[in-house]
Amino acid sequence: MEELARFQAYLRINTAQPTPNYSEAVIFFKGLGQSLFPGIPIVEQHGDEPRPFATVPIELRILELIPQKPIGLLAMIQCYPDLPSVYLNSHIDVVPAPAEEWSSPPFEAAILPSGRIVARGTQDMKSVGMQYLEAMAKIRREAIPLGRTVHVTFVPDEEIGGVYGTQPFVKSRTFAAMHIGFGLDEGLATEGPHFDVFTGERVAWWLRFEIKGNSGHGSKLLDDTPSEKMAHLLHSLYTFRDAERAKMRAGTPLGQVTSLNVDWYRGGVTTDGGRTFHVNCVPGKIEFGVDFRIPPSIDPESFKARLMGWMQQAEDAAAAPTPAPALETPAAPTQTTAETPFLQTRTIRVWPLQLNPPINTPLVPVNSPWWDAFMGTAKDMGLDFQPAVFPAATDARHIREHGIPCFGFSPMNLTPSLLHQPDEYLHKDIYLAGVEIYRHLIPRLANAAVPGR
Ligand SMILES: [Zn+2]
Repeated sequence: MEELARFQAYLRINTAQPTPNYSEAVIFFKGLGQSLFPGIPIVEQHGDEPRPFATVPIELRILELIPQKPIGLLAMIQCYPDLPSVYLNSHIDVVPAPAEEWSSPPFEAAILPSGRIVARGTQDMKSVGMQYLEAMAKIRREAIPLGRTVHVTFVPDEEIGGVYGTQPFVKSRTFAAMHIGFGLDEGLATEGPHFDVFTGERVAWWLRFEIKGNSGHGSKLLDDTPSEKMAHLLHSLYTFRDAERAKMRAGTPLGQVTSLNVDWYRGGVTTDGGRTFHVNCVPGKIEFGVDFRIPPSIDPESFKARLMGWMQQAEDAAAAPTPAPALETPAAPTQTTAETPFLQTRTIRVWPLQLNPPINTPLVPVNSPWWDAFMGTAKDMGLDFQPAVFPAATDARHIREHGIPCFGFSPMNLTPSLLHQPDEYLHKDIYLAGVEIYRHLIPRLANAAVPGR
């Protein structure tokens, strides 16, 4: 059971944020490279000085674009080095695992009598990274021909947004030199027998609403106060949320509906720095923050127009003989930096906290050789792959932003989704079956639309 022992060894490296042990992971990758691919050259690259990838048949590169933020890169160069390559990505880091919430130590990676391997990262996503490598080793041993170069990458810091991980990596010359045509990144476990293949993901719009208006004594019935406008706005937001939740309850997956949560509020008149607030004072300003997640099927411009409509309704509902002073002229609508409002009505401004650009990915990609590769694998192995939209954000968005098609896929069926939860586990048989899936899928992807294959 060498395969399981290798998986356990990777799980035992504590790469939990905020202090992931990347140096131990690098030592592990080097040892693994030598045992899975005997004789593999191991190259250390510091900084972005791309060496060509097409000079060797296989190579393991430890790339440090940023000190202490290593990227593990396995490149398998094949018959047609000029064709765009296939990129198989996983992240090395995991989210924290407070031991007191777990029934067994989260980095012990014991295999229970039931066959479950319990550890942080079993699902998200050390399994996937190891399965890529195990499958690549089998492909190499069995001399299965691959038309396109395959790059297997292990990146740092996905769980904290990839600021020192995928984000600078995709902008590097090294990344450009990899000449990627298609990528795979993480998916989610499914409880049923089918597997979800995420062809796109929702984008996050994190917005701060700032509402100004009349202030004064709390005993009066003032016109145009911030709180009443907030009440109208919240009513619109939550009416919309109810409708979206109803769609979800009726069976539409979370990835295909718009979600929103108002996650913080700030306002009130205070004279002690926010320790207490005056209940008899109407504040002149109130703020709240909203986490919107928007599916690729929604046109961002029409969603913006909808938000503007709700803001305008709130203004109209509070409109009065003595309106609050209007804010300055709205900024040019194309500007959406942190310094300029994203949206503005007379007294309401919306500021971007994080505004991911829309990524238009069709739900079922037609005429896509990559989707065909999945369908071919399903046929070979008698599996059921279903297209889906990822409900949250993954590193795949940075790849898609470069115009590179990328799917999210983690071969875990018959498994409850436990990412970021205590007692995260994966059954050993599901793990091993996943290696077999990649052993079929990777050659299909690497030979997709290759002349003569
Ligand atoms: Zn993940």
